Amino acid sequence: MDVDALAEAVRGGERAALARAITLVESTRADHRDQAQRLLLKLTPDKHSSATAAVSNRVGITGVPGVGKSTFIDALGMDLIGKGHRVAVLAVDPSSTRTGGSILGDKTRMARLSVERNAYIRPSPTAGTLGGVAKATRETIVLLEAAGYDVILVETVGVGQSEVTVADMVDVFCFLTLARTGDQLQGIKKGVLELADLVAVNKADGKHEMEAKSAARELAGALRLIHPHDALWRPPVLTMSGLEGIGLDKFWDTVLEHRRVLTDAGEFDEKRRRQQIDWTWTMVHDQLLRRLADNPAVKAIRAQVEKQVRDGTLTAALAAEELLRAFDGR
Ligand code: GDP
Repeated sequence: MDVDALAEAVRGGERAALARAITLVESTRADHRDQAQRLLLKLTPDKHSSATAAVSNRVGITGVPGVGKSTFIDALGMDLIGKGHRVAVLAVDPSSTRTGGSILGDKTRMARLSVERNAYIRPSPTAGTLGGVAKATRETIVLLEAAGYDVILVETVGVGQSEVTVADMVDVFCFLTLARTGDQLQGIKKGVLELADLVAVNKADGKHEMEAKSAARELAGALRLIHPHDALWRPPVLTMSGLEGIGLDKFWDTVLEHRRVLTDAGEFDEKRRRQQIDWTWTMVHDQLLRRLADNPAVKAIRAQVEKQVRDGTLTAALAAEELLRAFDGR
């Protein structure tokens, strides 16, 4: 494979090349991994060039199935394209690795965007662990940005760690919810409110509009308890309707406002840099664990050590030391 030519074609915005490049970063084959990393190095923006300021907006979107994510993304994406943006939609769906199919990123869910020249939709990779999906998605973001997509929407459903994973790869993390009040508020995973930079009560249309407004007020109250008064950014709660196209401008204005606030405080670029460092260490941890599990010396003593711990003839701490000694080859 000619990595230089592929990089050029991706930069030129050729769709077929982009698809090939994404398939390459999703691959787990050793020779593909190597080519993928060379490609990514070529396509990562040069930190010394004058055009270092990031132009893209990376936006995470989460919410339970049925909350209206695809309807919303379709509508928002079309609006943004109308304003001259190029929009990419990615999905992080850990369940796809088990079922081999994804409920997210399915092109049929975004009828208008899927036929747009200035949009690119990619479903969640269906191989590997959440770690594998996260890696492929992060690397795909680099490819998409190199290809000129300046709005990257990453959608996920709140399964396991997927929300944290997506929040760690985007600039702004948005939680879509339905009108919930009182006891129903308890049903919202607490963690997601802590992660969210923006909360939107969706389907605020027709007879649900008032309900949505009062739900938004309650949620705003709950959020005030989470974020201190002097926080740089206190997540606002919006109401909107993806179906009717209500509140989409406000949503996007809020995304840009969030960026402005972080940028003015010097936090925007810093957040991206921090994410890269965290990401580096996440990969080190993942690789180390894989090497540990695959290590012949560890494999050789594993059953015996576990048996001794079970029998109570070896403490857990000593067992851990023994396994690590075997791993270190000592
Ligand atoms: P997703 O599973 O989160 O992607 O949700 P969908 O976008 O597929 O929407 C689920 C259902 O809710 C569909 O029947 C949509 O037509 C409907 N829906 C989506 N957005 C809205 C909205 O803003 N208002 C109303 N009333 N219905 C909506």
